[in-house]
Amino acid sequence: MTRPTKATIDLTALRANYLWGRSQQQGNALAVVKANAYGHGAVACATALADIADGFAVAFCAEAIELRNAGITNPVLVLEGCFNLAELRQAQQQSLWVVIHQDSQLQDLETASFEANSLHVWLKVDSGMHRAGFALEDVQAAHKRLTECPAVASVTLMSHFASSDEPDKQTTLRQIKAFEEATRGLPGARSLSNSGAVMAWPQASRDWARLGILLYGADPLPHPIDRLTPVMTLQSEVFAERWLEAGEPIGYGEKFVTQARTRVGLVAIGYADGYPRVAPSGTPVSVDGEVTRIIGRVSMDMITVDLTPLLSAGIGSKVELWGKQIDVNQIAKAAGTISYELLCNVKRIPKEYIGGIAV
Ligand SMILES: *Cc1c(COP(=O)(O)O)cnc(C)c1O
Repeated sequence: MTRPTKATIDLTALRANYLWGRSQQQGNALAVVKANAYGHGAVACATALADIADGFAVAFCAEAIELRNAGITNPVLVLEGCFNLAELRQAQQQSLWVVIHQDSQLQDLETASFEANSLHVWLKVDSGMHRAGFALEDVQAAHKRLTECPAVASVTLMSHFASSDEPDKQTTLRQIKAFEEATRGLPGARSLSNSGAVMAWPQASRDWARLGILLYGADPLPHPIDRLTPVMTLQSEVFAERWLEAGEPIGYGEKFVTQARTRVGLVAIGYADGYPRVAPSGTPVSVDGEVTRIIGRVSMDMITVDLTPLLSAGIGSKVELWGKQIDVNQIAKAAGTISYELLCNVKRIPKEYIGGIAV
């Protein structure tokens, strides 16, 4: 018997989430499939979206080339841009769209001497996040240098928000204003919104949205509105069980001690599979569709769950760690992190794809 642990990826849900996200704003929408599509499989997800997506976005060139090699012909934007001239040449050959966020990238482009109008670039403005992008006072000059490069076919102006998933903060409005002032009078399309902004900040809607986490059905906002369908179901099975008397410890570090007679189920998934080690006893888990809790430390390949209240559960019972029943945000909260990190960490286990034809 093979290990019964897998991530089921619902491509129909992915397509529905994309279309919903795009419909929430006025512009086109890039589907962000960096980090192996947030752990969901970049090639499979991009292929499933190719006929409806206006384009894709990835973090770096190698991720984009993986899509090209798999036959993806849609626009693909490289969000970190290129690291050197050699990479820029590769990007141009592969018809990638590249972000230019600092002077060295601008210089590479000026040196490259590509064929005229052969490269679409996105000029990144630092509107307040202070991570990547040209400072507000340098934007007009950078834009001028770009438009003077014969190779540049178009310049799209972009920026990224620090706190779009916090609807009560004013940061996003300040960033929009700073972006507007720095780019005033410049021609070209604009792109500001990630998922949080699409869902919480309609004022940020421009020509292109960049949809990441919402594609995968994990709501980034503090008060979910139930319009997204989870794409990944992380699942396994109970493969052993035992009764413990009251007062017995379970697992590494004896972090959990039974209060009463307890039936413990052993589940074939652990932190090496992407389930967070720091998830404490009490974190919800579904067994045969009923919600119970994990008890004891998460091990590398196994976790232990409380089967005491579940009369008919036992060896072979289906376990959902997150998915349509257990919101990945609940697990992220219990683990002190965000859904993004949990999803990205799903790497070792096989993926099974379902759906994907029609929405
Ligand atoms: C990752 C990323 C996105 C997508 O963000 P989500 O919050 O997942 O929607 C958009 N824009 C940039 C620049 C990014 O790096």
